[in-house]
Amino acid sequence: MLDRYSRQILFGPIGKGGQEQLGRSTATIIGCGALGTVLANNLCRAGVGRLVIVDRDYIETNNLQRQILFDEDDVARHVPKAIAAAERLRRINSDVQIEPLVDDVTADGIESLVRETDIVLDATDNFETRYIINDACIKYQRPWIYSGVIAAYGVTMNILPGRTACLRCAFPEIPLPGTTPTCDTAGVLNGIVGAISGIASTEALKILLKSPRVSRDLYWLDLWDNISERLELPRQPGCPACDEHDFTFLDAAGSSSTSLCGHNAIQVRSDTRGGRLDFALLAERLRGVGTVNYNDYLLRSLIDGYEITVFPDARAIIKGTNDEQVARSVYARYIGQ
Ligand SMILES: [Zn+2]
Repeated sequence: MLDRYSRQILFGPIGKGGQEQLGRSTATIIGCGALGTVLANNLCRAGVGRLVIVDRDYIETNNLQRQILFDEDDVARHVPKAIAAAERLRRINSDVQIEPLVDDVTADGIESLVRETDIVLDATDNFETRYIINDACIKYQRPWIYSGVIAAYGVTMNILPGRTACLRCAFPEIPLPGTTPTCDTAGVLNGIVGAISGIASTEALKILLKSPRVSRDLYWLDLWDNISERLELPRQPGCPACDEHDFTFLDAAGSSSTSLCGHNAIQVRSDTRGGRLDFALLAERLRGVGTVNYNDYLLRSLIDGYEITVFPDARAIIKGTNDEQVARSVYARYIGQ
């Protein structure tokens, strides 16, 4: 153990005691795309004892430019991101307990995740989920780190409940869908992913070690225009989340069954009351209308120009449309209830 972490233990502010403390810590990473794979890679190699990795998506070729835990083999195998990441991380450091979760973050699931972790790292691509994370972390007094990257710039900020500004202090209103650029419209360079993840994963170590050097600023970095900025954001009196403990997003989440999930794809959920889909049976039914293949984690079918990916909990990602109604009807027609 000492040999594996010797270069980190040599660093004074961590030392042997700090290393042992990291080994007893849990970090939960929400999202396992660009930021999530680099964060998970850094924290796993650094010896954070337990890593929970949550992601709802599967791997595609266009992810490989920046999502460092995946390769061409994972694309060909149709493996969900959380599963492929866990496989890779276990080969990197078998001392770390890796818990992959192939799911969407909804209000129902997040409370238990947050209660059982020491820190949450945001690696999502949408504000809706970030506001849910913010509510849950303030409710259970857990630190979390907001991070986002787009094009050649990125931002990261530590949120220490009751001590620093929260996400709603910083951004009181959730940006309307379509008003902010996304990776699907503006692209993203892998260098900014590494830079922002490097900052956020180091802040995570500091937070886990209760270092006095934990940043209290919002940090903004643009690698193309060579600009960086630190903004000190004050807590807002009357903030609905961290001051009044009115957890609007946590209470409301779970109600939306359909959400946009990247370019030209819609996610559809269906309530199975905890039941699991029988892929063999579903594949049998779909073979008459399109091509089907499945593994333990997902079933993929090409029908009518749509690529339908179904997970065991009946959640599906319908590729080939941006229209929620169309996606719902494709789901109803081929997956049913
Ligand atoms: Zn606040």
